[in-house]
Amino acid sequence: MSEEDFYGRLKETIGEAPEQSPVQPVELGLDDAIQFHCHKEVACFNLCCMNIDITLTPYDILRLSRRLGLSTSEFLERYTMPFEMDAQGMPGVKLRPRDESPACRFVADEGCGVYEDRPAACRYYALGTMGVRKKDTAEVEDAYFIVREPHCLGHQEPRRLTVREYRREQGCDVYDAKNQAWREVVLKKRSSGPTVGRPSDRSFELFYTASYDLDAFRDFVLSDSFNETFDVDAGTYERLARDDGALLEFAMRFLKQVLYGERTIPFREGARERRIERRRQRMEERHEESRRRDDYDPRYDAPAEGD
Ligand code: SF4
Ligand code: SF4
Repeated sequence: MSEEDFYGRLKETIGEAPEQSPVQPVELGLDDAIQFHCHKEVACFNLCCMNIDITLTPYDILRLSRRLGLSTSEFLERYTMPFEMDAQGMPGVKLRPRDESPACRFVADEGCGVYEDRPAACRYYALGTMGVRKKDTAEVEDAYFIVREPHCLGHQEPRRLTVREYRREQGCDVYDAKNQAWREVVLKKRSSGPTVGRPSDRSFELFYTASYDLDAFRDFVLSDSFNETFDVDAGTYERLARDDGALLEFAMRFLKQVLYGERTIPFREGARERRIERRRQRMEERHEESRRRDDYDPRYDAPAEGD
């Protein structure tokens, strides 16, 4: 693959390919070998955590929020900042650096303070990954590449291992499996480009909640209005109420339905009609309200002299 093709593909899949990129334009497979070792004795220890730009995935947020004993809503508010993942404004979330510097809030002298639950991007570094959708399927195929930044001395360490071994060592395989359905949703949106049109603001709101704010999504799923609309059996409801993993999977099914019209969660009989009827009534009420406002003349309510 030519360098130009590589960067084109990178741009298509991760949304950016900076001109002065530290990305090495060589696509690696799982059995390709890399030379890299990061450990506490390297002279650059912690340097990569001093100037962060870390995009978070749904599973990252789940793991970090649970580790910190926070709800996902609290975690998002305290530790993240929003950004737009593409030109249409698809919502993304990044780890928010410290107020006084671009360093990560979790870095300490002894290393990462949330190491066992660190985000996928931290696990992968200094490897990068791009998901590529297989032709005519929703399946995502991964390709890997090296990110070689001048400050990172791990590339000079005399250790060789395959991409597969590195991923397993860092726990990337577990994170990728948990995020797989979400990556498919994002990639489908990206590769469909402007032909599908911009999703509505409401769809983006639902995307944000289902992707990142799983506790708020749980409240939504357990609400009466969701239950009235979707035909979900009692056993599934019970699991969604207590099992984060099951809820994350369900959230991705829901997103495929909301964004792409895939029938992943059955509707209750008559639910659509009831929803349309409710919407019609709401519109009528609003109409009536604005008509009343237009008829209203404040002069008649003004206090008369001597009141
Ligand atoms: S989460 Fe940990 S590994 Fe990732 S940037 Fe922060 S301190 Fe570094
Ligand atoms: S070797 Fe690279 S990844 Fe490891 S601490 Fe140094 S800069 Fe960070």
